[in-house]
Amino acid sequence: HTTTSAVNKGRPVVPTQEGRSLDALHSIPVHKLRAQAAATEALTVPESYPHFTPFVENKKQYDEMYKRSIEDPNGFWGDIAKEFHWEKQWDEEHISYNFDVRKGPIHVEYFKGGLTNICYNALDRHVAAGHGDRVCFLWEGNDLDQDRKMTYGEVLEEVCQLANYLRSQGVQKGDAVSIYMPMVCELPIAMLACARIGAVHSVVFGGFSAEALAGRMEDCKAKVLITASGVMRGNKKIDLKAIADSAHTMAAKSGHTVPRVVVYENERAGGRAACSFTEGRDVWYAEAIAEQAKTCEVEWVEAEHPLFLLYTSGSTGKPKGVVHCTGGYMVYAHTTTKYVFNMQPGDTYWCTADCGWITGHTYLTYGPLLVGASQVVFEGVPTYPGPDRCWRVVDKYAVKQFYTAPTAIRSLMRAGDLYVKEHLRDSLRILGSVGEPINPEAWRWYHDIVGDGRCPIVDTWWQTETGGHMITPLPNAWAQKPGSATYPFFGVVPVLVDEKGNEVKGEGEGYLCIKQAWPATLRTVYGDHERYETNYFKPFPGYYFSGDGARRDKDGYIWITGRVDDVINVSGHRIGTAEVESALVAHAKCAEAAVVGYEHPIKGQGIYAYVTLMEGVEPTEDIRRELINTVRGIIGAFAAPDVIHWAPGLPKTRSGKIMRRVLRKIAAKQEDELGDVSTLADPHVVEQLVALRGH
Ligand code: ATP
Ligand code: MG
Repeated sequence: HTTTSAVNKGRPVVPTQEGRSLDALHSIPVHKLRAQAAATEALTVPESYPHFTPFVENKKQYDEMYKRSIEDPNGFWGDIAKEFHWEKQWDEEHISYNFDVRKGPIHVEYFKGGLTNICYNALDRHVAAGHGDRVCFLWEGNDLDQDRKMTYGEVLEEVCQLANYLRSQGVQKGDAVSIYMPMVCELPIAMLACARIGAVHSVVFGGFSAEALAGRMEDCKAKVLITASGVMRGNKKIDLKAIADSAHTMAAKSGHTVPRVVVYENERAGGRAACSFTEGRDVWYAEAIAEQAKTCEVEWVEAEHPLFLLYTSGSTGKPKGVVHCTGGYMVYAHTTTKYVFNMQPGDTYWCTADCGWITGHTYLTYGPLLVGASQVVFEGVPTYPGPDRCWRVVDKYAVKQFYTAPTAIRSLMRAGDLYVKEHLRDSLRILGSVGEPINPEAWRWYHDIVGDGRCPIVDTWWQTETGGHMITPLPNAWAQKPGSATYPFFGVVPVLVDEKGNEVKGEGEGYLCIKQAWPATLRTVYGDHERYETNYFKPFPGYYFSGDGARRDKDGYIWITGRVDDVINVSGHRIGTAEVESALVAHAKCAEAAVVGYEHPIKGQGIYAYVTLMEGVEPTEDIRRELINTVRGIIGAFAAPDVIHWAPGLPKTRSGKIMRRVLRKIAAKQEDELGDVSTLADPHVVEQLVALRGH
């Protein structure tokens, strides 16, 4: 799974609809597109798309709803929550929170007094309303001929069976269950089964190592681990059970033995024959549920009962075990899914994220099921067997809303337009992006080529911690600007603050903070409330601090500028790493770049650039000079890199984000103090970079 640079290189020239070549388009430096987008009101992006009726028709309607959401949150969220089943109604004044460390401990509460269950609302509620036959999961396997449909009724039955089994193993309300599985229907089913009995799930991405799984199982004292024999990802076979076994041993050594391991047999990766099995501890998934009843009594839980624990990606440090609770998260997951994807019950939707990330929690397992959609669950990778896989799947199921990450968009863009164009894609209505800032160039490709200019792009800014979308366009409600997440979602009050914590009003730039609680605010960091307060609430007292920077333009549009740790201060100029990287990549021989700051005796900080050259290009002094001159030309002399470090590869998280903190350490020659690198996709990259350091 490779991340490629945003700028197209080495791709055949394919004429676009307007008869101009994409290569010509791509010769425009990225920062110019961004500047253009920021500067002009006369956007080339249409304000309204003719193919659907939006829930929110225009800015005026949004403004009214938004105003109520922040002035009367009790009423606004209460009205939405009435669509759900509550075993016991919440109190009228159900919200209380404190975001100010100076006034006492940070706490957040929604739907005080209410009792509910998110699994009941995601499944039973639809079945009870007569929609048991509606397709719930459209599972698409790694290979082209592998698929499976499950209706809401069938999913509910299997969830009940697994929930009964978990109960039979002594799993009770509040107990933790670790899940380490590939993207099969049984993964969201396992999450829902936990939720049904009030158990707290901790999903660990199936690409993580034994150490990472062991640490996470130990942390939450998991009573059960649900895993699988293995999985095929493209041509690669991953032996999940063997990794789970080592994790089990490691956790036992450091004091926590997980008593029961449920193993889903994945025949496509060898099945039972290829899989180890420990009698007395392990049980096959199919056998575990076989004798269980297909109905299962729901555990009604308080709105603030913890639903899950999930670790952040680890881009900036040791992953934080984020805790989300039932009621507020449920209502927020539902509402954001409904409005941002303009989703109606029965819509066919596809989110490519793995359930191991927050996106797979909120916009696969919970949000779409709460709305009642039919959704694709994809086991494979977007580039297997070819780079047209996504568009093939879009056509196969007539997908209406498609949601993916910039890293995937960039790699598909690099493969060329023909792969897109050989498929119809006429079912698509809305395209979503999440995970990193999407640069305007990738945005336009997504919009013009994938969406044929017919589909609005929802560039959704949010975090594991926020539980759901925070700043995002609503389709058709206002004009888009490529690269801007635009306006806040209902109930979200974003503010930009300066170093002293003063709010920057109107046009300007600052630290992106949130001023009021929203329903899916993280409630704590698992087992470490102090870290929660220190990390998110102490930097700017009175606010939740996101760790990201942002800019507000004259139209009030918000542009995420990246993580604040990534901003470099050179002789008083604040320079965003993203900008310098885009400029470097504009050079024809540069495939990818990552920029960090380092201590500089005169300037305070200097600019240190890691550069990956195009396939087959050898680094030379000439190229070094050209690269520096390119940045000078595009941004200005003050942004010229002081050091260029040739990099065969860059350290990335398993979700595809560049780990600049690791690059900062290498630049400072402190590679023995890398910190937590457990979420690094390829640890060898670090050694390679150290070996190539030329100073
Ligand atoms: P850690 O907190 O451990 O460093 P992480 O921040 O990468 O990891 P996530 O919660 O997966 O963990 O990612 C959230 C971050 O991703 C945001 O803070 C932001 O930097 C980035 N991000 C997500 N969506 C967008 C977007 N649409 N535009 C810009 N940045 C985004
Ligand atoms: Mg983060």
